[in-house]
Amino acid sequence: MNLPIQPERISAELETLASFSVTEPPAITRIVFSPVDLAARAWLKQRCVAAGLAVREDAVGNTFARWVGAEPALPAVASGSHIDAIPHSGRYDGTVGVLGTLEAIRALQDSGFRPRRSIELILFTSEEPTRFGLGCLGSRLLSGRLDSARAASLQDAQGGALDEVRATAGFAGPLAGVALPRDSYHAFVELHIEQGPLLERGGIPLGVVTAIAAPATLHIEIEGEGGHAGGVLMTDRHALAVEAAAKSTGAVDSVATVGICEVFPGAVNSIPSRVRMTADIRDIDLARRDGMLAAVRERCAAVAAARGVAVRCEVLNADAPAQSSALVIQALQGACEDLQLPCALMVSRAYHDALFMSRIAPTAMLFIPCRGGVSHRPDEFASGEDIARGVLVLAHALARLAG
Ligand SMILES: [Zn+2]
Repeated sequence: MNLPIQPERISAELETLASFSVTEPPAITRIVFSPVDLAARAWLKQRCVAAGLAVREDAVGNTFARWVGAEPALPAVASGSHIDAIPHSGRYDGTVGVLGTLEAIRALQDSGFRPRRSIELILFTSEEPTRFGLGCLGSRLLSGRLDSARAASLQDAQGGALDEVRATAGFAGPLAGVALPRDSYHAFVELHIEQGPLLERGGIPLGVVTAIAAPATLHIEIEGEGGHAGGVLMTDRHALAVEAAAKSTGAVDSVATVGICEVFPGAVNSIPSRVRMTADIRDIDLARRDGMLAAVRERCAAVAAARGVAVRCEVLNADAPAQSSALVIQALQGACEDLQLPCALMVSRAYHDALFMSRIAPTAMLFIPCRGGVSHRPDEFASGEDIARGVLVLAHALARLAG
């Protein structure tokens, strides 16, 4: 099959999508349900309609653009990602999977291919946790992994409840209706930049993801009397406890990060009365991840007892890892073989909407290299050639899966 992928069209559309941002290029800032996010969604929907796709949106703003197959009653083959972007990030994270799927569909259409199963592009709402504190909001709800009452109670920093914010953005209806039944999709594929250095370092153009690491987020809050708490020292101790927990497993896939540490009142000559921090803990192995989580919680309790301070340790999310589906891995590997492109099997330490889609559909991911492994920064970069190659493999895999 000769598929007319148009690399110039993809890069022009990435350029346009990057213009929906509240920061000056190359820094992208596109927070979910902000005016620039809504404008980007409107533009994207137009592109989908122009490609003859049937567009539907759910109550949380997940957007589905379907190329109806010859047997529309069969479960569809889906592919997609997100377009929200954390403050001062880059233009490729998520967007490559969304615009790449659109280009793959258009190339299949132009080639005269007629799918038996429908092929659907999915744009997931709020993959980034920036606004509501919880990542993969849309795919969590879609896969039934987030209770709709808990979702409705989420608030942004201004105190706006998800229910109000989404209504203002034009997304109505009960959140309970977002979850889809297990047999909705025959397969799901997410094309994404690697956000790590392995493909570039190995000179390998494509990575097929066989597993996604299990993420967990802890909120730790320490409160003591400013006079004798010795809080600055304790922040070190907690951060060290998190690092020690990750190193104690001896496994390369165990990682833990203290990403936020706020010290109150935060003056040079004032002993802090309160410290707030987050710990992000991940592993491919669920038991090992839970072991790290338990070690950090135990250390919190020990510090509280030894220092006479109140330590609150709340698990914000603790998700299971995902194993990719053999069906989808084979479709991606088969596509690479057909095209005589080398690919590596690898794991994803970052989590993605695919983690949640894997709960309701056979799922795998396709990675392309990004320069220096850099992501979530303005200098994030993937070459047009690498993107086009990823889209080509995606299109071939979608064709295999849609029959
Ligand atoms: Zn992403």
